[in-house]
Amino acid sequence: MKMPKKIKRHCPYCKKHTVHEVIRVKKKKASSLTHIARQKKRQTGIGNSGKFSKVPGGDKPTKRIELKYLCSECSKAHTRPCFRASKFELVEY
Ligand SMILES: [Zn+2]
Repeated sequence: MKMPKKIKRHCPYCKKHTVHEVIRVKKKKASSLTHIARQKKRQTGIGNSGKFSKVPGGDKPTKRIELKYLCSECSKAHTRPCFRASKFELVEY
């Protein structure tokens, strides 16, 4: 999905709608658990005797996107519940 870099939304500090700058919060890299899971998959070889086609805890088709909204009036940042999307980019209009 695409999202504009500047968006008008409600600010909990100003208690009104103001222009917000959208900042993407980058998360840490995948945990070591996924690496171990990949190694296990390699050891067992191709095919999994009718079990999962994907390793539990492996890469998901969608990524969790976390955003921060920086208010242009009070310059305070606030977050909103994150959502999942396969592709995400910030665009300028
Ligand atoms: Zn504000």
